[in-house]
Amino acid sequence: MSVVVHSLNAGLFEKFRGALRPRDLFLHDGSTLRQVRLCTRRQVAILAATLLLLAWAVVATVHAFAPAATSDTQVAQMQAKVASMQADYSAMKQAAVVQAARIEQRQAFLSALVEGKTDAKTLAAMVPGDVPTAPLTPLTAPYAKVAQQQDALAGKALALTEGRYRMTADALRRLGVDARRFQRGNPSLGMGGPYEPVTKANISDDADPQFRALFMSWKKMDQLEREVISVPSARPVFLKQVAFTSSYGVRSDPFRGGAAMHAGIDLAGPIGTPIYATADGVVNRAEWANGYGNLVELNHGKGIQTRYGHLSKMLVSAGQRVKRGDLIAKMGSTGRSTGSHLHYEVRLDGRAVNPVPFLQSTDYLLAVQNRTDTRIAMGGPDAN
Ligand SMILES: [Zn+2]
Repeated sequence: MSVVVHSLNAGLFEKFRGALRPRDLFLHDGSTLRQVRLCTRRQVAILAATLLLLAWAVVATVHAFAPAATSDTQVAQMQAKVASMQADYSAMKQAAVVQAARIEQRQAFLSALVEGKTDAKTLAAMVPGDVPTAPLTPLTAPYAKVAQQQDALAGKALALTEGRYRMTADALRRLGVDARRFQRGNPSLGMGGPYEPVTKANISDDADPQFRALFMSWKKMDQLEREVISVPSARPVFLKQVAFTSSYGVRSDPFRGGAAMHAGIDLAGPIGTPIYATADGVVNRAEWANGYGNLVELNHGKGIQTRYGHLSKMLVSAGQRVKRGDLIAKMGSTGRSTGSHLHYEVRLDGRAVNPVPFLQSTDYLLAVQNRTDTRIAMGGPDAN
């Protein structure tokens, strides 16, 4: 109280002193009447207490409102932070959605390629696009891991398709046939059109380079394997039924003596021994031909032909389509022949080549020709 009193200046004190002269209050509570005396000192104490209370109320009010203002700023800041986090999360989520789509596309392509049940055109449309890898976040990290495994799988598949192409090309080379013979645009029978390398047709320009390379390798392999069907690989007769009587090359002419080129091989057997087409093709001719007697000539496409001479009977006619292994004629001794045998020729671009390799090392080619799909055998222990 004294602090309050002394803090007031003297003039004010005198003014208040008049106002705060001693007073008597009469309080009636319904039954009794009490007199209360308020001396100046007590009134000053009451006033001081009131002033203190008022001061506290002001301070408390200021304090009550000041933190409220701070809190508003904090809320705004927090709201901004939340909004920013939400934006970040949306971006992360969007990146994850893009990565998920990328993974799915790559997986669909790899599955289709490995299973080998899709044609080149469909597969070309499935080559995944070149989607940039998203920055690593908790949401994209799992996709990055799968993408890595897919890259490894694509690499493996590429090695396998290239290996398979090489095996087929090697098998052809052993026959004296260049694999590039089959890289022509026109897969139909006939002599083939101009050389056309495998094109990137139908693949989107923004394709993932690794997957584009894999597709190109697969397409090249698939094309070769499809067209290898035109390579004579079967035997024209059951070898157990015949004797190998004359080989390809220069020999002594059986009629005139003297050296003469023998353009095929002679396989001797009884008249009427069945003779089979050694590859799919079209009958080019089935007629009498000088020297050959009754001759069947098959056109297998890609400049490849086979000839079957000295036949006793021809069971096909020109223009007819035949399959490898189809019965086409019966053995005989027509034309320049000293006894019942088959004269068998393989011709590349009109030139007779040695047919023996075609009869011998053809197990691999037969397997390729008998393929039902282009499934790529993948296996081995897991990368993980
Ligand atoms: Zn002959």
